[in-house]
Amino acid sequence: MILLVDDTPENLISLKNVLEKHGFEVDTANSGEEALKKVLKNSYVLIILDVQMPEMDGFEVAEVISGYSKAKETAIIFLSAANTEFRFIAKGYSSGGLDYITKPVDINILLLKIKTFYRIYEQSRKLGEVQKALLEEIEFRKAAELKKDEFISIASHELKTPLTSVKGYIQLLERGLAKGDIEQVKSHLSKAQIQLEKLNGLIADLLDISKIESGKLKFNKQYFDMDTLLENIIEVMHQSNPDFKIIKNGSVNVKVFGDEMRIEQVVVNFLTNAIKYSPGTNEVLLNIRLQNNELYVGVKDFGIGMQPEQVKRVFEKFYRVEETSHRFQGLGIGLYISSEIISRHGGHINVNSVYGEGSEFYFTIPIDQLMTDV
Ligand code: ADP
Repeated sequence: MILLVDDTPENLISLKNVLEKHGFEVDTANSGEEALKKVLKNSYVLIILDVQMPEMDGFEVAEVISGYSKAKETAIIFLSAANTEFRFIAKGYSSGGLDYITKPVDINILLLKIKTFYRIYEQSRKLGEVQKALLEEIEFRKAAELKKDEFISIASHELKTPLTSVKGYIQLLERGLAKGDIEQVKSHLSKAQIQLEKLNGLIADLLDISKIESGKLKFNKQYFDMDTLLENIIEVMHQSNPDFKIIKNGSVNVKVFGDEMRIEQVVVNFLTNAIKYSPGTNEVLLNIRLQNNELYVGVKDFGIGMQPEQVKRVFEKFYRVEETSHRFQGLGIGLYISSEIISRHGGHINVNSVYGEGSEFYFTIPIDQLMTDV
C-alpha cells in the first residue's frame, strides 16, 4: 500500500485517483503527525511525502520515520518545489529508499518510480524470506550435528557393553573347559549368547536407521496370522524375561497383510521398553482387538510413565527422556524405527501415558490390510 501525505486536499484526491486507476492501493494523511500515526499502525511499501507542510515538514517526518524499525523497508518519494537541496532530504533517512520529484508532478515519471520501488520492495522481501529460511536451516543443522555427536558416543558405549561381557564370558568358558565343568560351560555359553543377541539387535537398529535415511527400508508383505505371531513373541520374550508375566488380552482371528518380521520388531520393541521402563513391577498387558475397522495392538505397562511434553517427542529420532536416560540403557531409535514401520503399513502409532503410573504404546492398522478368517 502507498501512503500519500499532503496538506492540500485537492492534491491528495487527484493523486489518489490517478494511482488507484493504475491498480495501486492508496491511503492518505493530510499532515505529518497523521502520517506518523498511520505508519506506526500500518505497513506501507512507499510513502509519497509533500515537503512543504505547516507544523511538521516532509523532511522532519522522514527523519522520524527513519527511527521506526517497522518502516525499515518503506521507501519515500518527496514531492517538492524545484531547487530544494537534496542533501537535506537524505539526512537521517538511510533505509528503505529515497527519491525526489518536483512539482508540478509529471505523473508518468512518478508512476515509473513507484513501479521501480515496488519491484525493489518485492525483491528485498523475497531475499528476506530466503535469508530467514537459510538461517533456520543453519540452526537446524547445528542442532542435528550436536545430536549426531551425542548419538555416536551413546551408540559406541551401548555396543561396547555387550561386547565386553562376551569377552568376559569367553575367558570364563576357557577356564570352565580346562576344569571340564560342562554345566558351567553351558551357563556361560548361554549368557554369551544373550549378549550377542543384544549386540545383533543394536547393529540391526543402526542399519535400519541408515536404511530409513536413504529410503531403502524394504518390506516383504504377505498375509500372516496376528494371534499366532503375538503368542510366539510372548513365548520368546518370556524366556529372556522369566520374572515378567506378559498377559495377552483378546484375540482377533484375522490375517494381516504386512511384513511379519517388521511387525514383530515393533511389538518386541514395545514389550522390551515396557519391561525396561517398569522397574519393580512384574506384569505387562498385550491388548489386541478389532475396533473402528482397524486392528489395535497395545502394550500396557505399570512403570515410570512420561510427562505430556515427553510423550509428544517420544517417536522422534534419537529422543530419550533426559531425566531417566542415565538409569536405562538405550539409543532412542527403537520407537522412531517402529513409527516408520507402522506408517509404511498405512497405520498409526501412539502412546497414552501417565507420569508415575505407566504407559500404553499402541499401533493400529487399517482393515483393508486385513483378511478376516471365515
Ligand atoms: P531407547 O529405549 O533405546 O532409549 P526408544 O526409541 O525405544 O529408545 O524409546 C525412546 C524413549 O522413550 C526412551 O529412551 C524412554 O525415555 C521413552 N520410553 C519408551 N518406552 C517407554 C515406556 N514404556 N515407559 C516410559 N518411557 C518410555
